[in-house]
Amino acid sequence: MVLGIESSCDETGAGLVRDGVLLGHAVASSMDEHARFGGVVPEIASRAHVHAMGPVVRQALAEAGLRLADVGAVAVTTGPGLSGALQVGVAAAKSYAYTLGVPLYGVHHLAGHVAADTLEHGPLPDPCMVLIVSGGHTSLLLVRDLARDPIIHLGDTLDDAAGECFDKVARVLGLPYPGGPAIDRAAREGDPDAIRFPRPLTGPRDDRYAFSFSGLKTAAARWAEAHNGGSLHVADAAASLQEAVADVLTRKAVTACRDHDVKTLVVVGGVAANSRVRALAQERCAAAGIELRVPPLKLCTDNGAMIAAVGDLLVRAGAQPARLDVSIDPSAPLEHATLHPVAAPA
Ligand code: ATP
Ligand code: MG
Ligand code: FE
Repeated sequence: MVLGIESSCDETGAGLVRDGVLLGHAVASSMDEHARFGGVVPEIASRAHVHAMGPVVRQALAEAGLRLADVGAVAVTTGPGLSGALQVGVAAAKSYAYTLGVPLYGVHHLAGHVAADTLEHGPLPDPCMVLIVSGGHTSLLLVRDLARDPIIHLGDTLDDAAGECFDKVARVLGLPYPGGPAIDRAAREGDPDAIRFPRPLTGPRDDRYAFSFSGLKTAAARWAEAHNGGSLHVADAAASLQEAVADVLTRKAVTACRDHDVKTLVVVGGVAANSRVRALAQERCAAAGIELRVPPLKLCTDNGAMIAAVGDLLVRAGAQPARLDVSIDPSAPLEHATLHPVAAPA
C-alpha cells in the first residue's frame, strides 16, 4: 500500500492507495488563514503543513483501518509548488520512508491531478486528452501510459490560469476568497448571457491549444467600475464570466480531441470542480461522441490520494525509487510530469 503526501500549496494531504484502489485519505487546509490576505501566504502555508502533517497521515490511516506498518512505499509531491511548503511534505515523506524502510517516490503535482481520476474511474485509456485547469495551470495534455510514456504537452495559458482568473475576478466583484467556488455559487442566481465577455484566442488564426485569461479580469474590472453604484449585478457578472471560461476551455479541449482522434477527455484540477465547466464539457463531449471523465469534487482540488495514485502506478510499473536525498523542484516543468523518479542532484 502506498502512502501519498501532498503539500505544494495550502492543502496538507495524505492518501492511501493499493492496486489503484483508494483506501483512505484526509486533507487539512490553511485556506482560512490566508483569506484576509486575499491569496496564499507561503510562510503561513509552510507552518500549517508542519502542524497538520502528522494528524492528516494518522487520519488517513484511521479512515482506512490501517497502520503505518502497512505502508509499503511513500510517494510525495516534489514540485511544482511553493518551496517552503514542498519542503515540509518531502521532509515528512523521507522520514516515513526511512523509518519504515520502504521506497520513496517523487511525484510531479500535475501527474497527481491527472491520476486522481483513476481512483474513481479506473485506469486511463491510452491515449487520452487531459485538460488540466487549476490555480496555477491551464494546459492540454496528450497522455499515453502515465507510468511509462512522456506526456505530450499541446498548449498552455499564455498568462493567467483559469483558477487565477476566477480568483482575481471574484476579488474585483467583492466575492470572498477563494474566488472559484464563490463565483460558482454566485453564478447560480445570475444570467450567463447578461454580459458578453470575450472568448480569448478562439479566432480562426489563433493557436488552437493556447489559452489567455488575463484579459477577462480586465473586462470584468471595467464592467464592475461602470456598473458600481446601484446596478451592480454580481450574480450576472459571475455567471457571464463562468460561461466565458467554460466555453473557451471546453471548446478547445473538444477540438484537441478531434484533431488527435482521441475518444476520451479527462478534466482535472481545482477548476474541474466548477459546475458550469462540468456541465458544458458533458454536453459538448456527448455531441462529439467523446467520453468525458471528471474526478469527484474532493479529488479535483489538491489532495494526497492523487499523489498516492501516482506512487501506486510507479510501484506497479517497476519504476526505480528516488534517493533519500531527493530535492524539491518548485518550478518542475510540465515536460517532466512523466512519472519517472525524480533524480537527486548530481
Ligand atoms: P496547481 O495545481 O496548478 O499547482 P493549485 O494546486 O493551487 O494549483 P488546485 O487546488 O488544483 O490549484 O485548484 C485551486 C483552484 O481551483 C483555485 O483557483 C480555485 O478558485 C479553483 N476552484 C475550486 N473550486 C472551483 C469552482 N467550483 N469553480 C471554479 N474554480 C474553482
Ligand atoms: Mg489550494
Ligand atoms: Fe493543484
